[in-house]
Amino acid sequence: MKTRRFIEDGWFHDFGHGLALTGGRCPACGRIYFPTKQVCPACFATDQEKIPLSHKGILHTFACSHMGPSGLPTPYPIGFIELPEGIKLFSLLTRCDPWDRVLKVGMEMEMVIETIRTDEDGNEIVGYKFRPSGEIPS
Ligand SMILES: [Zn+2]
Repeated sequence: MKTRRFIEDGWFHDFGHGLALTGGRCPACGRIYFPTKQVCPACFATDQEKIPLSHKGILHTFACSHMGPSGLPTPYPIGFIELPEGIKLFSLLTRCDPWDRVLKVGMEMEMVIETIRTDEDGNEIVGYKFRPSGEIPS
C-alpha cells in the first residue's frame, strides 16, 4: 500500500488555521529561523518558541534545476521566498508554467503543501512549495 509522509518531521504544525510552516523565534534576540534550531546561531540562547510562518512571501530570486534526487522529475524551478518574518526560504516553485515567463522577482508567492517526489516504493513524500499568489489552484 502506498503512503504519504512529510519530508521532515516538525516542519508543519497546525496552529489553529490549518497546517503552516513552523518557525522558531529566539526568546532572547527575537530572530526567526526555519527550520527551528536547538540553539540560536546569533546569541546562543535555547528554547525557541514555535511560531507559524506566513503563507505568503515575495519571490527574491529563482532559477531552474536540471538535477535532483530520484523521483523528482527535472527540470524544475527553484527559488528563495522572502517572508514577512525576515527570513529567506529555499523552495521548489510550482504552478507557474512557463516558469521563465511567469516568474518575476518581487512577485507575491503563496505556500502550498504538495507531493515533492515519490520514493523507490512509490510512496509520496510531501513538503512545501510556493506558487504565484492569486492563481486558481488546480
Ligand atoms: Zn538569539
